[in-house]
Amino acid sequence: MIFAARNAEQSHHIQLRLRDEFEKCLKNVFAASGSNCTANSLRMHWRAMKIEMITLRELRMRLKSPFETSFGVTQERRILLVELVAGGISGWGEVTAMENPFFNSETTDTAWHVISDFLAPQLIGRELASAVEVPARWAGVRGHEMAKAGVENALWDVEAQHRGLPLSTLLGGRREEITCGVSIGICETPQSLTRKVEKEVRSGYQRIKLKIKPGKDFAFVAEVRKEFPDILLSVDANSAYDLGDSAYLKTFDQFNLLMIEQPLQWDEIHAHAKLQRMISTAICLDECITNSRHANAAIELGACRIINIKLGRVGGHYSAQQVHDVCQEHAIPVWCGGMLESGIGRAHNIAMSTLPNFTLPGDVSASQRYWHEDIVEPEVEVTPNGTIRVPRDPGLGFTVKRAFVDRLTARSKNWKENQAVSISAPNNTVAFDR
Ligand SMILES: [Mg+2]
Repeated sequence: MIFAARNAEQSHHIQLRLRDEFEKCLKNVFAASGSNCTANSLRMHWRAMKIEMITLRELRMRLKSPFETSFGVTQERRILLVELVAGGISGWGEVTAMENPFFNSETTDTAWHVISDFLAPQLIGRELASAVEVPARWAGVRGHEMAKAGVENALWDVEAQHRGLPLSTLLGGRREEITCGVSIGICETPQSLTRKVEKEVRSGYQRIKLKIKPGKDFAFVAEVRKEFPDILLSVDANSAYDLGDSAYLKTFDQFNLLMIEQPLQWDEIHAHAKLQRMISTAICLDECITNSRHANAAIELGACRIINIKLGRVGGHYSAQQVHDVCQEHAIPVWCGGMLESGIGRAHNIAMSTLPNFTLPGDVSASQRYWHEDIVEPEVEVTPNGTIRVPRDPGLGFTVKRAFVDRLTARSKNWKENQAVSISAPNNTVAFDR
């Protein structure tokens, strides 16, 4: 039997169909051999991932130094982690929502609410053949992609371990190492920015991205470009301009940038199409793209020539694969964006970045750039060539430091099948780690 997907969304239904066909074949084989294997036992065998426990926790972590973008300064992170146990195997995911609704509409607290009241209750006790099935379970919940991604990605980690595969391989990734860039926050002066760029270039990073905002843009980029005429350089405005700034943004063409990322409003694809026609620098969309339909619309409208995929922003690995595939079909290169993640989110980003159309260096960089101590071991390290080696162990390929995670936990919530939800605030006054 041949199934052909006409678009990325159909592939989900085809996978479910293939599973059903596989079940039927196995049943016929057992029947022909006289085995007393029942449909139920077969189902138990195939649907091995029964979700037995989900734990949601909030960690307090302090970045080594403040990170400034056009929408504000971040140093103290309130990070949500999801641990999911299925078939006796534990997997981890990270919610990449920020503390405030400035990057997108989600926050640490909205994600806590949505996971607690809608997502976790709909999964606990379920049997799933694959993490691919998760989005359909939540089809009624609109938006809240980062909350969804935190839970779904934990099941991807479980599934990879269950199948004895590195997560990258389960996702269809091929790379043994990924290329890394860095994102540098807004600095006080062009000179202080240039000193930071110099340090990162020396560390081997293959692409430098500068955060910009009105008043801290042209002169800063000009100074860096003057000092480093040959580096792969891009800028990220995080929606700080509007279409009225088109002529000004055109002046950035002289800097031979790899891209200008999300210059206009966070939900405005059409205006980016107009701007892209006026400037020669490639526009990369970030905030605008939360699923493959948006990617398709942006590409068809000519709103960008590059797309940044963030696992949280698009709702998890399954949706990220769909965005990746749409871009690949249209020869639009993608790269992995960052959200100041802990090692768990970082490990998921590494796995995703191994997919074939991730042809530009991403924002996945070393743990040590952000944290005095990361919550995974080994910590994420970057080679002198500006790459990260992809782990080969099953699952994420990093070990979560449970004792350290416990120390940083400010509150937690736990679901077990047929048991009341348990809530604890073991360390509600936990200080941000230093
Ligand atoms: Mg961005």
